[in-house]
Amino acid sequence: LLMAYDPARRLARLQVSLERAVVNARMIYEVLDTMPHQRDKPGATALHVGMATIEFRDVTFAYAEGGDMILKGVSFVAEGGKTTALVGPSGAGKTTVIGLIPRFYDPTGGQILIDGQDILDVTKASLRAQLAYVSQQPYLFEGTIRDNIRYGREGATDAEVEDAARLAYAHDFIMAQPQGYDTPVGENGVTLSGGQRQRLSIARALVRNAPILLLDEATSALDTESEAAVQKALDHAMEGRTVVVIAHRLSTIVNADKIVVMRDGLVVEEGTHDGLAAKPDGLYARLHNLQAPLAVLPPVSSAASDAA
Ligand code: ADP
Ligand code: MG
Repeated sequence: LLMAYDPARRLARLQVSLERAVVNARMIYEVLDTMPHQRDKPGATALHVGMATIEFRDVTFAYAEGGDMILKGVSFVAEGGKTTALVGPSGAGKTTVIGLIPRFYDPTGGQILIDGQDILDVTKASLRAQLAYVSQQPYLFEGTIRDNIRYGREGATDAEVEDAARLAYAHDFIMAQPQGYDTPVGENGVTLSGGQRQRLSIARALVRNAPILLLDEATSALDTESEAAVQKALDHAMEGRTVVVIAHRLSTIVNADKIVVMRDGLVVEEGTHDGLAAKPDGLYARLHNLQAPLAVLPPVSSAASDAA
């Protein structure tokens, strides 16, 4: 799949170090937006961003021509500067929705607008310059820690790289590495924990300093300390930006300005946590109730003593 992008000789050099990266290679905007020969529509203009409001209007999408419609008419608005959480069962189309925004794929029908401009009418370079993306699977490339953060924006200075690392709660563990920011990572470098890799990936998004953040929240369990650090890093990354997050954690969902509930390629409900939770027959309320008992379970020790 990596090699399918034939102009991207650069990709061959990058040596993506995680096997799963190949599956999601289309999602690595840091790489895609450095590719030459991006095909733009004749007369495409630069995207002009103000509030950075994103609107899906009756978007349909099939991965293959004549294949199954994966999105069957998705409409929602992600307000500028606010956080919109996409939730719903696996296979609902959440990742597909996120992938349409950087134009890894184009809709089969309908429109996606950013501040009123159809993203098909603007240059891909100007579109992607406004987007940062943090994937579920944090990628590390062959190179140093500094290189790995700088993939977010090639012209970033060392000081900007370090500022981003500080905001992402990565600076301290980076400084504890044998060569600090110059420590090699990837196949031939040091091994970082899942939480550390995630914070590097967040630093990469922060150094980009884009108004729109697309976030595929990790489902994998981190240890409590990493989890807290990753959460703080994400809070910084989300501040003041238009965020579209595929949310798995209740805390992200509850704190979102808007929740868009998807099922089978459609938006089935939309609202705030309180509004949706108050509709007992709704999908959200049912999904939410599945998680609630976990949140109220007593700690193991007291449960054990109750049973005794
Ligand atoms: P979610 O993120 O909500 O779990 P996805 O957007 O990943 O859902 O997937 C929606 C549907 O699209 C699923 O049926 C999935 O199998 C299908 N799908 C996802 N990616 C591809 C692809 N690259 N090619 C074909 N079908 C895909
Ligand atoms: Mg997904």
